[in-house]
Parts: sequence; C-alpha cells; structure tokens
Amino acid sequence: MYDFAYHKPTTIADAVKILSEDPDAKPISGGMTLLPALKHRLNQPTALVDLGGIAELRGVKREGDAVVIGAMTTHYAVATDPLVKQFIPALARMASTVGDTQVRNRGTMGGSLANNDPAADYPAAAIALGATFITSSRRIAADDFFLGMFTTALEPGELLVAISFPIPEKAGYAKLRNPASRYSMAGVFVAKGPAGVRVGVNGAGPCVFRQKEMEAALSANWSASALSGIRQSAEELNSDIHGSAEYRANLVEVMAKRALAGAG
Ligand SMILES: Cc1cc2nc3c(=O)[nH]c(=O)nc-3n(C[C@H](O)[C@H](O)[C@H](O)COP(=O)(O)OP(=O)(O)OC[C@H]3O[C@@H](n4cnc5c(N)ncnc54)[C@H](O)[C@@H]3O)c2cc1C
Repeated sequence: MYDFAYHKPTTIADAVKILSEDPDAKPISGGMTLLPALKHRLNQPTALVDLGGIAELRGVKREGDAVVIGAMTTHYAVATDPLVKQFIPALARMASTVGDTQVRNRGTMGGSLANNDPAADYPAAAIALGATFITSSRRIAADDFFLGMFTTALEPGELLVAISFPIPEKAGYAKLRNPASRYSMAGVFVAKGPAGVRVGVNGAGPCVFRQKEMEAALSANWSASALSGIRQSAEELNSDIHGSAEYRANLVEVMAKRALAGAG
C-alpha cells in the first residue's frame, strides 16, 4: 500500500464535492474490488472517499411500480430484503449467489454495477429488468449505462446513488459459477415486464449484453421450447483458461432455458 488521504463524508453532496475537487480521488463502498486493486497497485488514487457514512445510500423502498435499491445496499441485504423477495424474487436469489458470505456482507450493489466486471451478476439483472440508474446528477437507462469491460457511463466524480427496478411480471436467473470465485462463467437473466421481454447475458462476453433473438422468441412464446432453435454465436465471446468462446456460447443457451424454468 502507499499513502492516500481518507475521507468519510455523511452526505452525498459532501462526497461529490470532495470527488469533484480531486480528479484522482475514488469512492469506496465495500472495498471488495477496490482494496485488492490498491494492494496490487493497479489503482493509485490520491484519496479514498468512503461512502459507508452516508445513510441515504442504503436501503430498499417501493416507489410506484418499482423497487428502488440504494447503491450501498449489500448483497446480503438485497438477498434478504422482504420487498425484493416479494416483488423481484429472482433478484434476491441472484444476490444470494454472489461470491461467498464475506463478499455478500461487504460487497454492494452500487460497487458491483459501477465496477461493471463482465462476469458480475447484477449487470444482467439491470439490463433485463430495464433498470434506471439514479446518480448524483442524472438518471441513466440500463441500456446506456454499460459501455464496455469495466467501463460505465458514470463521469469522474459522479456517484451512483440508487437503482430503480421496474417490478416484472416474471423473472428468472441462472448462471454457471466459476467454482473458485463463484463469478459467472455465463449467466442469463430473463424478464417479462413493463418494457416487454428482455434477456441479459453476463460472463460470456467482454461486457453484459442483450440477447435479442431470445427476446423476440420469448415475446412470441414464453416457454423453453421457444428457445430451442436459437444458437448463441461464439464470435466476440470470451475465451480463457476457464472455458472457450464455444463453450460459453453453449452455456448461454443452457442458462437461458434454466432461467426461464425458474421464472415460472
Ligand atoms: C472473492 C470474490 C468473489 C466474488 N464473486 C462475485 C460473484 O459471484 N458475482 C458478482 O457479481 N460479484 C462477485 N464479486 C464482486 C462483489 O460482488 C463486489 O460487489 C464487487 O467486487 C464490488 O465491490 P464493492 O461493492 O465492495 O465495491 P468497491 O470495491 O468499494 O468499489 C468498486 C468500484 O466501484 C466504484 N464505486 C463504488 N461505489 C460507487 C458508487 N456508489 N458510485 C460510483 N462508483 C462507485 C469504486 O470507486 C470502485 O472503482 C466477488 C468479489 C470477490 C472478492
């Protein structure tokens, strides 16, 4: 580790002020990704702005036809929250499969989405449910939020405050976990909601994406048989020591059917 300043503001406005005055400062939520990055010197911010003291960034509430989840809400809190379990049970179940007990107790929904790891779970849910990202300065549709591997539409100094998930009629998620990290080798979130049928895929490519062929098929016929003829192209999918692009393409098809079965 090396020297850096540490701030623990208690309001969003104060956090944004510190971040805007120092372009090399970084927000930290649970530290599950950022702390290892600091230890390996992959990231060397001049200051850390700890979001842990900002109460308004935590918690779950219902707003009209949506469930709104604060960016600092932990995976454990998402998995066990009564509102999430009642209105978007697939999201609660997904949160319960993130990493291990320690990661779920420290890691946050906002940290995961701001990080946009290609193998993270939440991006697929956000895309499929047609979520809206509420930041310290604007609202961003999920389709416009994920720009590429570890890259989002967040500007420097802009904080993710909450994520608004429209309540779906049906939703399900399935992933094949990497046995070591539990990150997704390929995961598929299917949802039928106010924005129609949407299918989000994580783990398979360099960034979460919508599987539009599956969306069209499921819009016409919400059943696993509708997916039978659809082949996921391996082009542009990830190949690494854990699995080839062809293997991941096959996983997408299998996980989509499992997600659908779980969605009812
Ligand atoms: C062993 C292990 C296993 C894991 N397994 C999984 C898994 O199976 N599935 C999965 O999805 N994830 C997994 N994760 C990731 C985990 O879900 C964390 O949520 C993720 O690492 C982000 O960590 P964090 O929430 O603590 O954010 P941090 O590490 O504190 O921050 C991550 C990044 O987001 C930025 N940031 C944080 N909060 C905000 C905000 N409110 N606004 C703007 N920027 C912000 C930070 O500056 C930093 O760049 C795993 C992590 C570990 C260590």
